[in-house]
Amino acid sequence: AINAKSNFLATMSHEIRTPINAVLGYSELLALELAGPLTVEQRAQVERIRASTGHLLTLVNEVLDLAKIESGTLRVEVRESVAGEAVNSALSMVRLQAAAKGVHINEQCEGACDARYVGDRDRVRQILVNLVANAVKFTKEGGSVQVMCTVQAEPPFGRSRKSDGPHVAFQVSDTGIGIAPDQLEHIFEAFVQAESGARSPYTREQTGTGLGLAISLQLAHQMRGEITVESELGVGSTFTLYMPAADPMDSPGRL
Ligand code: ADP
Repeated sequence: AINAKSNFLATMSHEIRTPINAVLGYSELLALELAGPLTVEQRAQVERIRASTGHLLTLVNEVLDLAKIESGTLRVEVRESVAGEAVNSALSMVRLQAAAKGVHINEQCEGACDARYVGDRDRVRQILVNLVANAVKFTKEGGSVQVMCTVQAEPPFGRSRKSDGPHVAFQVSDTGIGIAPDQLEHIFEAFVQAESGARSPYTREQTGTGLGLAISLQLAHQMRGEITVESELGVGSTFTLYMPAADPMDSPGRL
């Protein structure tokens, strides 16, 4: 039954994406005013169509990913890649968002950026974009987000799992609203979005589906990686993606 559900979701998500892309494409054409000038009001309305459609597309893509993961049909590539490239590409995708909010974010990768990890380059970038976009989303104006890489011989995975050799750690820290201790263990579950008393109205001002972290964790596990989180309410959060280092003999000095 689970397989049937996942196959259905995967097919539906795929079919739904085609018309959504058409709506997105035509609203972008309208915004370009190739078919004639728009009034200020019309431009604002077209922008809302575009933003909502973009959100819908993200949701459908995430449901598709989750369905593929659940049905075991999601494939990840296993090859060596450079940590800094993944970080810089993720940073470039959220920089505008950070600037628009007045959140400071590093220009490019910091730390052991030459380190090489083993995994799927696109999926690692997808996870990083999700972590960095969340960090920006849940940090108020004037706050900061920092992304840096280190190589760790024995990463602290906690009780859930024993570490198995050196890993490249991608650390995403923010000075944002933080996450309450009782919510921390649940945020990696699908459709869970943390609510924390008086902060909830602020939190839910943010768009999102509650799927990003669930997908990211499953992707990380599929690549033999891990994601950990430390957070303090009102102080900030640090999410760390660990990916197996390319060579068990790797050390920061050699990389
Ligand atoms: P979404 O961001 O779409 O809501 P996610 O699965 O990415 O879903 O995140 C789940 C929840 O975890 C978020 O709704 C938020 O409550 C909490 N969260 C994630 N990242 C952060 C962060 N950097 N700071 C504070 N809360 C966070």
